[in-house]
Amino acid sequence: MFRDLQRIPRRDHHLPADDNPHIVYQVACRRRQQLAMWMRSGHSPLHADLHRHGLRPSSFCERCTMAPEDRQHFLFECPRFATERQTHIVPLLRRISADRGMPLLPSDVSVLDYVLHHEYIQDTVNYVMATGRFHCRS
Ligand SMILES: [Zn+2]
Repeated sequence: MFRDLQRIPRRDHHLPADDNPHIVYQVACRRRQQLAMWMRSGHSPLHADLHRHGLRPSSFCERCTMAPEDRQHFLFECPRFATERQTHIVPLLRRISADRGMPLLPSDVSVLDYVLHHEYIQDTVNYVMATGRFHCRS
C-alpha cells in the first residue's frame, strides 16, 4: 500500500495521503485491477498458483487443509469464506443465472468463465476484497 502511494503524484500537497480522496480513489482502483488480473490470469498468491511456479512446497489451502487452494476452491468451496461467499458469490450466481436464462451452479465447468467475465468481474472482486485473502501486510 505504501509503495503504491509513493508512485502516485499528489494533487494537494497539504493533505496527508490517507485523507486525499484523489489518492485514496486511485489506490483503490489499482488494487481492484490487480485483484481482477490475478483472478483472471490464474497467476495469483493462491497456494496452487505459487506451488505451480515452485514458490510454495504445497498447493493445499492453509485455511481448511481440505483441497488445493486454486480459484475454484477459493471462490466457491473453501468453508473459511462461507459468509463472504453468501454475501457476494451467491447473489452473483443468481444474477448470472437470470442473465443467461438457466441456472449456473458452482460445480458447472463454465462457472469460472462466467464470474471472471468482464461483465461480472467487479462483483467477484468485491468477494475477494471481503475475504481479506490478499490483504497487504504492512
Ligand atoms: Zn480452504
